[in-house]
Amino acid sequence: MTREQTFVIVGASLAGAKAAETLRAEGFDGRVVLIGAEEARPYERPPLSKEYLRGEAGRDKVYVHDAGFYADHGIELQLGRTATGLDTSARELVLDDGARVGYDRLLLATGAEPRRLPVPGAGLDGVVYLRTVEDSDALRARLDRGGRVVVVGAGWIGAEVAASARTRGLDVTVLDPAAVPLERVLGTEVGAVYRDIHADRGVRMLLGTGVEAIVGGTSAEGVRTSDGRELACDLVVVGVGVQPRTGLAAEAGIAVDNGILVDAYLRTSAPGVYAAGDVANAEHPFYGERVRVEHWANALNQGPAAARNMLGGADAYERLPYFFSDQYDVGMEYTGFARTWDRVVFRGDPASREFIAFWLAGGVVVAGMNVNVWDVTDPIQRLIRARVAVDEHRLADPGVALDEVVPVEAY
Ligand SMILES: Cc1cc2nc3c(=O)[nH]c(=O)nc-3n(C[C@H](O)[C@H](O)[C@H](O)COP(=O)(O)OP(=O)(O)OC[C@H]3O[C@@H](n4cnc5c(N)ncnc54)[C@H](O)[C@@H]3O)c2cc1C
Repeated sequence: MTREQTFVIVGASLAGAKAAETLRAEGFDGRVVLIGAEEARPYERPPLSKEYLRGEAGRDKVYVHDAGFYADHGIELQLGRTATGLDTSARELVLDDGARVGYDRLLLATGAEPRRLPVPGAGLDGVVYLRTVEDSDALRARLDRGGRVVVVGAGWIGAEVAASARTRGLDVTVLDPAAVPLERVLGTEVGAVYRDIHADRGVRMLLGTGVEAIVGGTSAEGVRTSDGRELACDLVVVGVGVQPRTGLAAEAGIAVDNGILVDAYLRTSAPGVYAAGDVANAEHPFYGERVRVEHWANALNQGPAAARNMLGGADAYERLPYFFSDQYDVGMEYTGFARTWDRVVFRGDPASREFIAFWLAGGVVVAGMNVNVWDVTDPIQRLIRARVAVDEHRLADPGVALDEVVPVEAY
């Protein structure tokens, strides 16, 4: 019955590859076409700023599937191909060589790309970004040369690159206009913990400081800061956030606004077209608003959810946002979504770097982050989902099990 149908996926990364896998796992026996602009078969990006960047793990450790998987499952993997146009009335995709691919269902998993640094000198050689495995290879080759690195942006990518470069023994300076690293997500109290983790390792943290210009002849030789300093360097790594790749959808008339707008079933405004992963700004049933998540677990789970819905399922995507980060010997997991909060409660001493932080709004836990404490994501998620005001003393007390912080009836 479905044998005649063609399901096309644009974006051969985590969301796209997991969606293709799910289509087959759910028994779809029509055509599955997975189109990706990159030459590499689908891979995971988290190692690119961590063990892969440091040369501790090889390419074979980053792929989503082994090399034979796609052929074995009848998935037509077209790499090095870019979808350049989309006609939603004719249900046709146009590829970079002019080829047209008809579809019955289409998944847009086009992800995100780094924001560029809008300052003079940003185009010099030695000013680099990190998104792809080739970027990571090129950055590793530069780190191999040693020297002085300035990392512009103290978000997750910047912080992880700083940690990896420092671990490799380079001289590292981090610049960010914010008062502490990761301030937008973690706030000042928890961001300060990360500032200290880096400072303790010998990273120069120039916070409250922006970039005026990159200076140099043909390649970067220094960074001029907003407070008038000039930092000599051999390499500038820019990590100032990403933006969703919405061009293909927008040009096709699909509704976009900070990502491709989708409902809880990951359906876009065009019939038969879905979106998942970093590019999808999805209605979230728990939050009652749209949420766009730029993290691994979201791509991992949303791709399969979209695939099930493409097959006629009604799988509302309602997982709570979750992400992880590893810097030096400090591992963390963050669960939840907090645009604003009025208090942060710690369970454990942040200075010990083994603690859980909870963000509270009106007494209710809206997010939690465990640092070098493990196997607590499920109870933290239950606390968030309970949506009841908590007793802060019980929340802070390691002697009270997380599942006993609020009365059991609240769950
Ligand atoms: C260095 C790095 C470290 C990270 N570390 C972590 C971490 O520790 N924890 C965490 O939770 N998350 C982390 N992330 C984030 C995580 O990797 C992303 O959330 C995830 O990759 C998103 O997957 P995706 O499939 O939605 O999109 P992407 O991975 O962005 O892939 C989209 C793909 O679509 C392709 N594409 C786009 N447009 C077209 C087109 N028109 N035609 C064909 N192909 C197209 C792109 O080339 C790309 O391959 C990290 C990201 C990076 C870059």
